[in-house]
Amino acid sequence: AAKSSERNTLRFYTPIMQADARQRLQLVSELRRALINGEFSLRYQPSMDLRSGRIVAVEALLRWEHPERGELPPGEFVAVAESLGLIRRIDEWVLQTACAQIRTWDRIGMPSLRVAVNVSARWLAHPAFVEGLGRALREHQVTPQRLVLEITEGAMLGLGDDTERTMRALHELGIEVAIDDFGTGYSSMAYLKLPAVSWLKIDRSFVTGLPHGTNDVAIVEAMLAMARSLGLGTIAEGIEHEAQHQFLLKAGCDEGQGYLYSYPLQPAALERLFNPRPVPTRLSLVQPRQQP
Ligand code: C2E
Ligand code: MG
Ligand code: MG
Ligand code: MG
Repeated sequence: AAKSSERNTLRFYTPIMQADARQRLQLVSELRRALINGEFSLRYQPSMDLRSGRIVAVEALLRWEHPERGELPPGEFVAVAESLGLIRRIDEWVLQTACAQIRTWDRIGMPSLRVAVNVSARWLAHPAFVEGLGRALREHQVTPQRLVLEITEGAMLGLGDDTERTMRALHELGIEVAIDDFGTGYSSMAYLKLPAVSWLKIDRSFVTGLPHGTNDVAIVEAMLAMARSLGLGTIAEGIEHEAQHQFLLKAGCDEGQGYLYSYPLQPAALERLFNPRPVPTRLSLVQPRQQP
């Protein structure tokens, strides 16, 4: 729920068009300041290979360390930044930071994990998107195969005629795309055939009811069957309970993310999972992948 009860705070959940001009101006300047002052940071949530129990990927998740309001999750500012036209600069920062992180991890001998980055429809649809992406990869000497772009169904909807061109260009670059929050949008499924689309992420709202909710069971099984036929990898989101893990493993889902395995972590905390020192108990299910 919106924290509207807090005194003197902006209601971030109020649609920005309803916020008054002063509030919008304030937020624009706060977001700009955040970019300049380095108030953004990334957490990395492990994605587990369900069969081996090893971390095979991480998803970069944005956080805003607001000087007065403390740490804000993207739900409190991403949609607003989109409507204010500032998401491109933020997502560019995310991409640069993730690429720099991949480079650093390679240098310190971390395993070659896939790194997934969430991309807003607003930036993806921009004509300079693919070029900017290529530049970031070259600058940080990151091979395209290391990066996955997570795009929501809604973003696909908004792309229209340019979708295929953008996807083809990504495919030529060697970048894989994951359809995020699958099943929650209202778009057609034609985009599942687009080049570059290689992963389907089953939304947390369907994982919640596993293993007993008959509707969720039916939906998740159908999604997995469809993904298998299309040759797409599958990642289930929001796994919090062992029983959900067991169901998804038996149903043939490839990977899983969720608090059961790990919260989104600071880079240093993720790195600690890969060295031999004992890990905190809540992460005891996590088995770091062997060094090659
Ligand atoms: P998403 O990409 O679907 O990310 C999954 C969200 O679920 C994350 O929330 C993650 O922290 C949370 N989560 C993971 N495991 C569990 C679990 O077991 N239980 C529950 N209840 N939640 C879990 P977060 O970090 O607040 O991000 C929310 C959304 O904001 C993301 O959804 C994504 O759509 C967007 N987002 C995040 N980072 C970025 C970014 O850099 N750029 C853009 N454009 N959007 C971003
Ligand atoms: Mg995502
Ligand atoms: Mg998701
Ligand atoms: Mg989701």
